[in-house]
Amino acid sequence: MGDIANQMALSLILKIKDKIKYKYIARKQKGTESMKILVINAGSSSLKYQLINMDSHEVMAKGLCERIGIEGSNLQHTNVAHDEKTVIEKPMKDHGDAIAMVIDALVDEKIGVIKSMDEIGAVGHRVVHGAEEFADSCMVTDAVMKALEKCTPLAPLHNPPNIIGIEACKKIMPDTPMVGVFDTAFHQTMPAKAFMYALPYECYEKDRIRKYGFHGTSHKYVSQKAAEVLGKNKEDLKIVTCHLGNGSSISAVDGGKCVDTSMGFTPLDGVPMGTRTGSMDPAVVTYLINKGMSAKDVDNLMNKKSGVQGVSGVSSDFRDLSAAAKDGNERARLALDMFTYQVKKYIGSYAAAMGGIDAVVFTAGVGENDAATRAAIVDGLDFMGIKIDEAKNAARGTVDISAADAAVKTLVIPTNEELMIAIDTQRLVEG
Ligand code: ADP
Repeated sequence: MGDIANQMALSLILKIKDKIKYKYIARKQKGTESMKILVINAGSSSLKYQLINMDSHEVMAKGLCERIGIEGSNLQHTNVAHDEKTVIEKPMKDHGDAIAMVIDALVDEKIGVIKSMDEIGAVGHRVVHGAEEFADSCMVTDAVMKALEKCTPLAPLHNPPNIIGIEACKKIMPDTPMVGVFDTAFHQTMPAKAFMYALPYECYEKDRIRKYGFHGTSHKYVSQKAAEVLGKNKEDLKIVTCHLGNGSSISAVDGGKCVDTSMGFTPLDGVPMGTRTGSMDPAVVTYLINKGMSAKDVDNLMNKKSGVQGVSGVSSDFRDLSAAAKDGNERARLALDMFTYQVKKYIGSYAAAMGGIDAVVFTAGVGENDAATRAAIVDGLDFMGIKIDEAKNAARGTVDISAADAAVKTLVIPTNEELMIAIDTQRLVEG
């Protein structure tokens, strides 16, 4: 017992020491010039980054390391102010090499944007799965690293490279505070009636099978931005956010908190996507396995060969689908109709779940750019106050596309997950 008490006391002292150190760095940054935050999104063989000035929220530099650990690795770095892209080909054996190259590029006399690594006030890391362990972004401590490992079985392809990215940064920047920002965290406010599956309760208790939801950083960003655009407090709004891209998810955000979302235990659930099925009768899976397909093949079929690509046989890209549908391709038309019909149903059901709706928000590749798909989704929803203006719907950027007499606002808001990660990182570092 004595040992445990001593360990706990030591860990508390270390945590307090860490906090004091981090706060000092944050204050030093604030006192001299604006805080700069490095946002990292590490994949298995790639690493994306942005350096953001937190006074102006402007991106100073951004880039991508490709083919980490594979022959032909390269860094593509853009100095945003100079609108200058540089490609550096150099072997990167691991994520540590990649981070070192990113830092070298950021401080480089010619292509860099800062003088020294010390100007980076904090690093915000995208982490795909935070399970029930993380209901908010958090400072990365040793305890957090352990908790992250616990989430790995739920995202075996995505979490390990995210963790490797954090470890690599910690090694190169041991004195810089690190923050983890989770795709699942925003959805942790869902009530049990929304996140539970009607499986035996042990499946939840033992195997943690439940709805988690994804794209949380995007849903959080656009719902907050919507409140700003509407000049209202987020606490007073019921919003349905539609993140429609290659992967798509819809969320019900009531009073700034997520109360339901369309993706589930994995990002396969919800509406049909580029190559993913979205929801269907789960008995299809056992039917295909009983017919002789392996579980792995069914998994591949549902994730990589289905969705609008699988139905149309044309493409997973909505631009190709629209062009094919215009040319009279009936299966492309069907795929688009299936997609818009399901998104429409989510809007209706989430309005019912929240007992009302003040705004619908469209974001991501399709949501931001595809006016015809937006129009098809809201078509026929005027009975519930949702009506858009055709001319406004043709505009780009952050726009209110509602018709003048619409009771519910329809907004297009470009998502910015990197900025949301940086904002959360700053909030945590400044305590
Ligand atoms: P991801 O889920 O990979 O982040 P994005 O949010 O970038 O995807 O969305 C990518 C999708 O956006 C593309 O597959 C394409 O279908 C769609 N898209 C992008 N631009 C347009 C456009 N101008 N018109 C229609 N669809 C578009």
